Amino acid sequence: MKVLVLGAGQLARMMALAGAPLGISVRAYDVRSHSVVHPVTLADYQQDLASGIADCDVITAEFEHIPNDILIESQASGKFLPGERAIRVGGDRRLEKQLLDQVFVANAKYKVLASKADLQQATVDIGLPLVLKSALEGYDGKGQWRLKSADEIDAVWAEIEVFLGDSSPNQAMVAEEWVPFDREVSVIGVRNKNGDVNVYPITQNHHENGVLSFSFAPAASSELQQQAVDAFSKIADELDYVGVLAIEFFDVQGSLLVNELAPRVHNSGHWTQQGADVCQFENHLRAVCDLPLGSTELVRPTGMINILGCDHIDSNAHALAGVHLHWYGKDKRPGRKMGHINVAGLDSTSMFKQLQALQPLLPEHDFPGLANAIKAVT
Ligand code: ATP
Ligand code: MG
Ligand code: MG
Repeated sequence: MKVLVLGAGQLARMMALAGAPLGISVRAYDVRSHSVVHPVTLADYQQDLASGIADCDVITAEFEHIPNDILIESQASGKFLPGERAIRVGGDRRLEKQLLDQVFVANAKYKVLASKADLQQATVDIGLPLVLKSALEGYDGKGQWRLKSADEIDAVWAEIEVFLGDSSPNQAMVAEEWVPFDREVSVIGVRNKNGDVNVYPITQNHHENGVLSFSFAPAASSELQQQAVDAFSKIADELDYVGVLAIEFFDVQGSLLVNELAPRVHNSGHWTQQGADVCQFENHLRAVCDLPLGSTELVRPTGMINILGCDHIDSNAHALAGVHLHWYGKDKRPGRKMGHINVAGLDSTSMFKQLQALQPLLPEHDFPGLANAIKAVT
């Protein structure tokens, strides 16, 4: 089987690495350079989108902010999974919220904003504080504002107008109630063409400056897991979803509220490479290639640490049992996702022990907040 991934970043790379032993060959379409490349070596195949599409059996995506023309061309081929609708829903907070309401999955109270007057009304209808998010193109906390009091409306809306510009008449904002969550968790699951669903254990997530920094699993009771599985099934069934889908939640006193969806493999599922029977990358390929789904059972409790903006780790990390480095082969840029470290243990106690052993090798200036995040959960 030949799979073409829209997007040529680390997620396509890890799909290619997972596909190789199955005999699935993965190519990536770089939407910026408009060329088909090898996702690991980045060697250029000298193909445009049309020939990349003609040459593959299945098209999938590693991100949801795909230019419209590429989305339409991919969908028209009849080979695209999870398909145009799922990608559009994941890439537009208005469609995402509509879908959640339609299938009765709890999410934060919200209002779509087209003007400053709408924002004023939202402070009345929803209350304060508010989180304001651009409807399109947000990721890693970009395109977001916090509105704490009504006298900030003018200043915040002025910033938003600059951010939105007048480039796209389709641009809008979504105002969301600020959720006083106890913690953030996510669930990653996979669904195939027959509608079979396998869901990994819930992952607990820690963010630093809006970016995921640290995750671990298992992290929830069976009662909470059931809530996540129910939400997953409702959403995935409605989309007739094929592939891996990630759902981010707020845990508010034992009730899950959806934050957002990602119609793809997800950073908070990287632990599955060491911690699950079949990892999220292989399961995504199995689903889109119509192979039987792999088990999503947790085999080793695993933590995942993101390496952001740094290209070197103390080599003593390799000496620690259960510690696995995954570099993405990218050029260093401040804050850029360069790789991640999985830390697996035979049980949760030994996983947390290995995290504590690893942490002193990861300096605070390269891993801000990590020491505290690990301390808080161990
Ligand atoms: P991602 O990189 O995960 O796609 P994103 O830019 O789409 O990020 P969100 O996940 O919507 O952004 O928000 C980023 C973070 O901001 C959340 O993980 C959470 O910590 C915080 N946050 C977002 N919405 C709310 C809310 N309504 N109430 C409280 N905190 C929030
Ligand atoms: Mg997002
Ligand atoms: Mg998010």
